[in-house]
Amino acid sequence: MDTQRIDAVVIGAGAGGLCAAARLAHGGLHTLVVDDKDRLGGRASTEEIDGFKVNIGAIAIEFGGVFEETFHTVGAPLDIRAPEPASSFFIDGKVIDVGRGGWSLLLGQLTKQASRILEKFADARSGNLPDGRQSTEDWLKGYTSNATVHALFRNLCAAIFACNAAELPARAFLTYFTSKGAFKKFGFCPQGTIGVWNSLGSAIRRNGDIWLGTPATTIHTANGRVAGVTVLRNGERVRIDTDLVISNAGPKATVALAGSEAFPADYIAKVKNDLRPAANIVINVASREPLINHPGIVTFGKTRRLCNMANLSATCPELAPPGWHLYVAYAVPVPALGDFDSDAEVALALEDLREQFANFDQAKILSIRVMRDDWPAQRSCAGYDLPRETGIEGLWCVGDAVKQYGNGGTQACAETAKIVTDAILAARPRRSAGRV
Ligand SMILES: Cc1cc2nc3c(=O)[nH]c(=O)nc-3n(C[C@H](O)[C@H](O)[C@H](O)COP(=O)(O)OP(=O)(O)OC[C@H]3O[C@@H](n4cnc5c(N)ncnc54)[C@H](O)[C@@H]3O)c2cc1C
Repeated sequence: MDTQRIDAVVIGAGAGGLCAAARLAHGGLHTLVVDDKDRLGGRASTEEIDGFKVNIGAIAIEFGGVFEETFHTVGAPLDIRAPEPASSFFIDGKVIDVGRGGWSLLLGQLTKQASRILEKFADARSGNLPDGRQSTEDWLKGYTSNATVHALFRNLCAAIFACNAAELPARAFLTYFTSKGAFKKFGFCPQGTIGVWNSLGSAIRRNGDIWLGTPATTIHTANGRVAGVTVLRNGERVRIDTDLVISNAGPKATVALAGSEAFPADYIAKVKNDLRPAANIVINVASREPLINHPGIVTFGKTRRLCNMANLSATCPELAPPGWHLYVAYAVPVPALGDFDSDAEVALALEDLREQFANFDQAKILSIRVMRDDWPAQRSCAGYDLPRETGIEGLWCVGDAVKQYGNGGTQACAETAKIVTDAILAARPRRSAGRV
C-alpha cells in the first residue's frame, strides 16, 4: 500500500467539505479532498439530462452571510444571479408578492389573528423563544386555526427545513426566521449549482488537491487522536498520514469509517439517538409552455405534499436548451423524519402539480429523486444537530448534520466549515507537511 503525508484530509466534497478545504488551503495547510462521487457538490451538485442542467439538491444560494464570505476570503468568484422578485407565494392560482412587507403583509391578508403571531415573532427577535420541544404546528395553533395560514407554515417548514410543521421545533423555526438569513436574498448559478463548487475547487487546488471517484475506506486513530485515512484510488489502497481529518460524510458514516470503539460512548449515543434525517422529493420539469411567470421561488398554499417551486430558466436561460423552460418543484413526505412509501408520496406531489398548473401534463419530467435515509435533504433536521467535535482529537465533522441551532442549507454548511477551520487555524502555527 502506498503511504503519503499531508497537512489535512477532507472526506467529502459537499458544501461543508469544500468550504472547509478552501479555508484550510487558504490558511496555509496543504489539503487533500477525497469524494466517492465523480463530481463536486455532493447533494448540491448538478447533472446533465437531455441538454438541461439539472440540480440534485440546492438551487438557491444565499447572498450575505458566511457562504458568500467564504468565497471572498479564499478568492473564489461566486457566480450567482438573483431572480427579481425572488420569493412569493402561490395561493389559489395567484402569485402573492409580499415584497418588503414580509410576514406582516402576508399574514395580514390571511387572518385576523395576524397581530398575535407577529407579536410572537417580535418576542423571538428579542430572545424570548419557546422551548425546543413544542412543534411549529402546536405553537401556531395557540394563535390561529386558519387553515391557509397552517398550510403556509407547513410549506415553509417543508421548503426550508424539509420537514412538516408537526416535526420542526417552533424554536428552530422562529430562530431561523428572526435571526438567520431566511433566504431573503438569493441567486441561482447559471452553470447549475455545481458551478459554485467548481469555483471553490479551483481555490483549493492552489494549495491542495481533489481526488474524485475516491472513497475513504478507513479513518485511522491512535490514543484518542486521528492518525490518517485510507482511500481507494484507481483500485489501489492509499494510506495518507495526517493529524487533521474533516469529515463531510455525516456523523454516522464517520463513526463507521473510524470504528465505534474509537469514540467516547456519549458521542456514539448521540449519533445513535439524536440524528433525524429529513426527506424531500425533487421533481425537475421542462416545459415548452410557461407554467408560471414568476421568476424566483414560489411557496404554495394548501397542497397535499408540494411545498415550493423555482422557475430557473427565467433567470438563468443557459440551464435549458432554447425554447424550453426549466422548473424544479419540491415536495415533502408525511412523515419527513420517519419511514414513508416513496411511490405514494411522489404520486401525491404529482397530483398537486396537476392541480396547481392546468397545463402541467404537456410538460416533460426530467427526473424525480426521493432524497431520504443516507442521501437525505438534511442529514439532520434543524433542532436535532450533533456537535462538530467527535471526541477524537483532530477529527471534526462539517455539513448539515452539525449545523448551528435553527440554521439550514448550504449557508449552514458553510458556517460549520468556518467554525471548525477557525478553531483549527487558531490552534496551529502555519506550516506545511508536504504534497501528495
Ligand atoms: C432537494 C434539495 C433541495 C435543496 N435546496 C437547497 C437550496 O435551495 N439552498 C440551500 O442552501 N440548500 C438546499 N438544500 C440543502 C443542501 O443541498 C444541503 O444541506 C447541502 O448540500 C449538504 O451539504 P453537506 O456539506 O452536508 O455535504 P453532502 O452534500 O452530504 O456531501 C458529502 C459528500 O461526501 C461524500 N462522501 C460520503 N462518504 C464518503 C467517503 N467514505 N469517501 C469519500 N466521499 C464520501 C458524498 O458522496 C458527498 O459527495 C437542498 C437539499 C435538497 C436535497
